[in-house]
Amino acid sequence: MKDLAVAGAIVVRVFATFGFSVNFSDGKTEAVIAFNGKGANKNKSKLYNEMGGVISFQTLGQSWSLRCVDMYKHVGTKTHASASMFTETRTRAALISSTLKPLRKRVVANRSVEIKKRVLIIDAHIMSRGLYNAGTWPTLHASELKAIHSPIMSVYRAIANSELRKSDPYTFCESFDKFHITDDSVLWKIGAMAPYHTIMLARLNLFIRCVVKCNVYILKLLFVARNGRRSWLASVTHDLAYVAFKCDKLAEMRGAHICVWANTIRSRPGSFKQLFKTALSQPRLQLKASWATTAALKETDAAFSCHLCDYDGAYRPPFKSHQALAVHMCKQHGIRHIAHVLVDTTHCPICLLQFHSRVRLLAHLMEKNPFCLNQLKRSDPVITQDQALELDKANGSSARALKGASRKPVFRLQGPLVLAYDENGVPITTPGNHHPHGIGRQWH
Ligand SMILES: [Zn+2]
Ligand SMILES: [Zn+2]
Repeated sequence: MKDLAVAGAIVVRVFATFGFSVNFSDGKTEAVIAFNGKGANKNKSKLYNEMGGVISFQTLGQSWSLRCVDMYKHVGTKTHASASMFTETRTRAALISSTLKPLRKRVVANRSVEIKKRVLIIDAHIMSRGLYNAGTWPTLHASELKAIHSPIMSVYRAIANSELRKSDPYTFCESFDKFHITDDSVLWKIGAMAPYHTIMLARLNLFIRCVVKCNVYILKLLFVARNGRRSWLASVTHDLAYVAFKCDKLAEMRGAHICVWANTIRSRPGSFKQLFKTALSQPRLQLKASWATTAALKETDAAFSCHLCDYDGAYRPPFKSHQALAVHMCKQHGIRHIAHVLVDTTHCPICLLQFHSRVRLLAHLMEKNPFCLNQLKRSDPVITQDQALELDKANGSSARALKGASRKPVFRLQGPLVLAYDENGVPITTPGNHHPHGIGRQWH
């Protein structure tokens, strides 16, 4: 804290030399302090409780007070003492959602505009508002990335969903999954870049600028902080290695030191800028399998959004789960899963498992066993929609009914199994008299 007072005094004196006075009021010149090591808690409590979070010092015959804060906002970027980017990405995520809301009907769901153009317009908005300054961010942790990944993907998904046929969804919904297209297929369909790569490209472009402008003080500062927690230069090093590994044109740069990169980039910055862009926008790189290397990153799936609302350009915050989307589909649009009309029993007609309850049977068809559902879909519905609704009411979908039925063990009924067909309509006759459900399941 003594050092901080000295640093404050130096700043005041240097500014005074050039005829400036430093503004120490709220939100202007403040210090973000991270406490580490031995006595961290003691010093923290001393600063915030005894000193009121203010460090006073004397210089130029005057007394000054420097405020200490947990978080500081500089040129629109919030820096946290813990180096966490979560506050920042959450704020940006909210900004993206609110900026793009008015564009939902006119741009996102406007089918008279080419997909490519719509993506360009949306990208321009995202880059100028949501990802402004994103080049200065370090590599984001999974939870931080998730916060910014979801709102961007939600808009991209709305573009992809607006291309579905309107006539389709109003009949019985075959399966909600058919309409909940995954992130991978959304990006593939509209040819956009995954948010992970957009942020990485912004960081690499900033690195090129730093190297080209070659401000010695800035480069020195970056280099000194390279081993720090969440250092920017360390993130850039990781990005360069990633790009070199994924792009064949950069093969000779694989494993190169950051200084080698800096020198090579300085000789031809334009071509590197182009190379990075083409490397990171390769369609195969946008697949989650390519960039999500950790289990936590793999979970950065955008929430479920309603394709019908997307089609109309109505903004609705995405749902958290498959189930929440299904409830919305049923209540708002009257659409239910096709499995409801395909069975009127409590056992599965395909695999002959007795579930004792319609609710459990429906779960078996809708979630657990797509094979049985696909076989059932080959024949016509056995009941009407109204009858299905009656049956659902009679069987009770309440938790208590489900719990009661779940106590009874599931068993396989006696009887011949029906012949199964593959997607081309050819009966599946696997050698060894085994049922295609799996080894050991007999035809008769
Ligand atoms: Zn909807
Ligand atoms: Zn079954």
